[in-house]
Amino acid sequence: MEIERQARQASAQSIAEVLASLSVDPKQGLTIAQVQKRQQTYGLNQLQKVKGRSPWQIFVDQFKSPIIGLLGIAAVLSFAFREWIEGIAILIAIALNAGIGFVTEIKAVRSMEALQKLSQTYATLRREGRVVSVNTEELVPGDIVLLEGGDLVPADLRVLECSKLQADESALTGESVPVSKGVASLEANLPLAEQKNLLFKGTAVTRGSGTGVVIATGMRTELGKISKLMAEAEAEVTPLEKRLEQLSRRLIWFTLVLAVFVAVSGILGGQDLLLMVETAIALAVAVIPEGLPIVATVALARGMWRMAKRNALMNRLSAVETLGATNIICTDKTGTLTENRMTLTQIALADGDFAVTGQGLAQQGDFILNQERIDPSQHNPLQALLTVAVLCNNATLPNANDQNLIGDPTEVALLVAGAKAGLDRHQLLEKLPEVQEVAFDSESKRMATIHEADNWHHPFFGGIESTEASYLVAVKGALESVLPLCSHQLIDREERSLTNKVRKQWRDRAIEMAAEGLRVLSMAYKVVDDPEKDPYENLVWLGVVGLLDPPRLSVKEAIQDCHQAGIRVIMLTGDQSVTARKIGIAVGLIADESSQVRQGDALEHLDQLSVSEQQQLLQVPIFARVTPEQKLNLITLHQRHQAIIAMTGDGINDAPALKKADIGIAMGERGTQVAKDSADMVLQDDAFSTIVFAIAQGRTIFNNIRQFTLYLLSGNVGEIIAVAITSFLGAPLPILPLQILFLNAVNDVFPALALGAGEGNDAVMQRPPRDPQEALLTRYYWLMISLYGVIIAVTILGIFAIALQVFAFPLEQAVTISFLTLAFGRLWHVFNMRDTGSGLFRNEISVNPYIWGALGICTGLLLLATYTPGVSTVLSLVHPGLEGWGLILVASFVPLLLGQLLKRWF
Ligand code: ADP
Ligand code: MG
Repeated sequence: MEIERQARQASAQSIAEVLASLSVDPKQGLTIAQVQKRQQTYGLNQLQKVKGRSPWQIFVDQFKSPIIGLLGIAAVLSFAFREWIEGIAILIAIALNAGIGFVTEIKAVRSMEALQKLSQTYATLRREGRVVSVNTEELVPGDIVLLEGGDLVPADLRVLECSKLQADESALTGESVPVSKGVASLEANLPLAEQKNLLFKGTAVTRGSGTGVVIATGMRTELGKISKLMAEAEAEVTPLEKRLEQLSRRLIWFTLVLAVFVAVSGILGGQDLLLMVETAIALAVAVIPEGLPIVATVALARGMWRMAKRNALMNRLSAVETLGATNIICTDKTGTLTENRMTLTQIALADGDFAVTGQGLAQQGDFILNQERIDPSQHNPLQALLTVAVLCNNATLPNANDQNLIGDPTEVALLVAGAKAGLDRHQLLEKLPEVQEVAFDSESKRMATIHEADNWHHPFFGGIESTEASYLVAVKGALESVLPLCSHQLIDREERSLTNKVRKQWRDRAIEMAAEGLRVLSMAYKVVDDPEKDPYENLVWLGVVGLLDPPRLSVKEAIQDCHQAGIRVIMLTGDQSVTARKIGIAVGLIADESSQVRQGDALEHLDQLSVSEQQQLLQVPIFARVTPEQKLNLITLHQRHQAIIAMTGDGINDAPALKKADIGIAMGERGTQVAKDSADMVLQDDAFSTIVFAIAQGRTIFNNIRQFTLYLLSGNVGEIIAVAITSFLGAPLPILPLQILFLNAVNDVFPALALGAGEGNDAVMQRPPRDPQEALLTRYYWLMISLYGVIIAVTILGIFAIALQVFAFPLEQAVTISFLTLAFGRLWHVFNMRDTGSGLFRNEISVNPYIWGALGICTGLLLLATYTPGVSTVLSLVHPGLEGWGLILVASFVPLLLGQLLKRWF
C-alpha cells in the first residue's frame, strides 16, 4: 500500500524518488515476479465495469413490453368473466413468451460481452529488459510504458522522458487544447490540468513520444475516481429497434380501436356480450406480433457475431444498420488496398541508381549498380543514405524470439535494407545516441531525428569532421517536403550546392519511380552544433528510395463486388498521384491512365468552389497527397449530397474524420488506439475485403429483419381478417383466442428467429444500396402483408366452411382443423419469404438449417398440443381424424402455393 500513497505525490517528487519508491529500474522495467506480486496487491488495471444487466433484470424486462401489458389486460378480463381456464392459459402464454425472450436475450447479451472482450487494448511496456506488448488490464504500478502519438494512456503515469510530448486531456479536464508534457518536478497539490509531468489514464497522446512509469492503476487513477461518480451508462437502443417499437405501439392502438369497434357493433347488433368480449380479446391477441422484439435483438446480435468472426468488430450496434445503407467507401491505400509489406527495391543517388534484391523481411540481398553487384560498404553515399534511413526510424526488426513486427512497415523496410548493407540500428545508436525526434505526421510528411555525434568521425558523410560538440540531423520524408529544405547534395564525399535544374531532375526521377507503383521516400542530413536548431533547414540531400508494396490479393474482387452493389470506392492516399494511379489500375479501381486523379489540396476551401466544380470533385475516384483535414472536407462534401459514407483511418489525425463519417472504420493492426476509439467498426485484419463483407452483412441483417416482420405481420393480418369477418357475420370463430395466442407467442417465434439468423444470399450485393430514408416497411411490404393476409384468411375461412358444411364435422373438430391449417400454413408460409429472383427450391430460406430446425420444433409442438390431454383441452383441440388431417395437409399448402404465384406475378 505504500506505493499507492507515494503515487499521489508523484508530481512533486523527482524522477529518481518516484522510481525508488516504485522500486523499478527504467532501463529494465519490472520483473515478472514483481508484476505478479503487484497484480495480487492492486488487481487488474480496469475501471469498475459498468454493471451489465443481471439475468434477473433481463427477466423482469421481458414483462415490461406493452404487448405483455395488453395480454395482461386480456387475462384480467378473462378472470373477470370467470373464464378461468382462458385466464390461466393467457398467463401461461405470457410466461412462455417471456421465457423464450429471456433465453434468447441472455444469449445475445453474453455474445455481446464476448465481443467486447475481443476489442481489448494493448500497451507497449519495458519488462525484464525487453520491449513487450501487454494487455492494458495487466499493468501494475512501476511498469515502464512507452508511448507515442496516437496511443491512449493506459494508466496514470509519471513522465520519465519525453520529446515534444502532448496529450489531449479533454476526456478528463474538458480542456480541448492538447497539453505539453515535461519531466521536471512541480509544486505539490496543483490542479490536474497543471500536473504537466503526469499522464492520465483515458487521455490520448496527440504528438511526440515518451516514457512513463505507472503510478496508479484501475480505480485508483484519476479517471477511476471520477468514473465512480458517473451514472450507469444506458444500454444503446438502435434506430432499428426504435422503429420496431414504434411499429408495435402503433399496432396496439390499432388493435384497441378495432377491438372496441367490433365489440360495440356486435353488442349493438344483439350479439352475446361474453362472445364479443372474447372476440375482442382474440383480435387484440391476433394483431400483435408478440415475437417481434425478441427476434430483432437476436438478429442484430447474431449479425455482429458473424462480422466479428470475419474480423469486423462493431463498436456500436446501430452501425450495423447504417452499414447496410453505405453507398461510398473512402479507403486508404497503404495497408488496406495493399499488403503493407514494404520492400525497398530501388535507390537513386546522385552517383547512380541501385537495385536492391531480396524478398520481404529476409535480411539478405544484394545492391546492384549497372548490372553489377557491388559491396555496399565501399560506396560512401549509399552508406550515408542507409545510415540516415536506419537512424531516422522508430521500428524494430523482427528477431528469432519475436516475429512480431514492431513499427511502421515503411520503416521496417528501411531497417531491412540497412541490414543488407550491414548496418544495425542498435550498433549505430551506440555511436550516435538519439537526443531528439521530431515525429512523422501525415500533414508534414517528414520526420527527423537528432543524434549526438561528438568525436564521431565517419568517412562517408561529407563535411563531418570530429568537432567538439556536433550533432547529426537525419531526415526522411516525401520528396516535396524534404527537397525544398535542402541547400546542398552529397556527391561522393562532397557537399555541392543544389541547383534548380538538379532539383527538377530529382523530381522527375521520383515520378519515374512512383509510376512503377513504388512508394517514394527521400533522405537528407546535416551536421549542427546546437540540437535545438530547426532541423528542417539547410539540409544536405542524399537521394530517394522506392518501396514496393503489392496490392492485396482479394482487393480486386472486393472492388468489383462494390461496383455491382452500387457502392462507389474512393481511394485516399498520402502517396504521390503517380503511385496511386498505378495501384488504382492494379486493383481495378480505375480503368486506365486517363482516369482522373486529383491532389488532396483540391479539397481545400470547398465553399469557394462553384457548383459544377463541386460536382466534378464528387466524381473523382482517387485523391493523392491527402491530409486528414482534407479527408474531413471530402466527407462533408459527399454528405451534403446525400451519401452514406464509410471512411477508413489509422492515425490520430484521422479521428475527426472517423467520427464524422457515417461509418468510421479503424485499422485493427496498424491503427492507433485513438483511431480505434473514434471508429464505429474496427477491421482486425486491415483488409478492404473485410469492409465489403461487413457491408454485405449489414444489408443481410436489414433484409432479415424485414423478412421476419413481413412473416409475422402477414400471419397476424390473416388472423384479424378471419376473426373480423366471422364476427361481423355473426358466425362462430374459426380460431379461438387462446389458439391465436399460442401461435403468435410461441409457435411463430421459432421460424421468425430462424429468418433472423439467416445468412442471406449473394443477391444482396447485386442491388443498389437501400435509401437510408426508406421506412423499415415500404409500401411494397405493406401491400405484401395485406395480400398474404388475405390469402391466409381465405384459406382458414374456406377450410372452416368446408369442414362444417361439406364434411358436417362438429364445431370443435372444425375449429381444430382450421386452427391446424392456419398453424401449418403459417409454417410453410416461411418459404414465401425468399428473395424475389432467388431459386424456387434452392434459396436463402431453404439452405438455412435453422428454418428446418424451427419447422421440426413447431410441428412437434403442434402435435403435442393436439394430442396431450390437458393441453388440448385448454386449447379446445380435439382429434382431427384422418379425413381432418387430409384436409389440413392439403389446405395448409394453399398460402405457400398462392404466395409463390403472387411472387411470380410481381
Ligand atoms: P499513406 O499511409 O496513405 O500512404 P502517409 O501519410 O502515411 O500516407 O504517407 C505520406 C507520405 O509521407 C509517403 O508517401 C512518404 O513519402 C512519407 N512517409 C510515410 N511514412 C513516413 C515515415 N515513417 N517517415 C517519413 N516519411 C514518411
Ligand atoms: Mg501511413
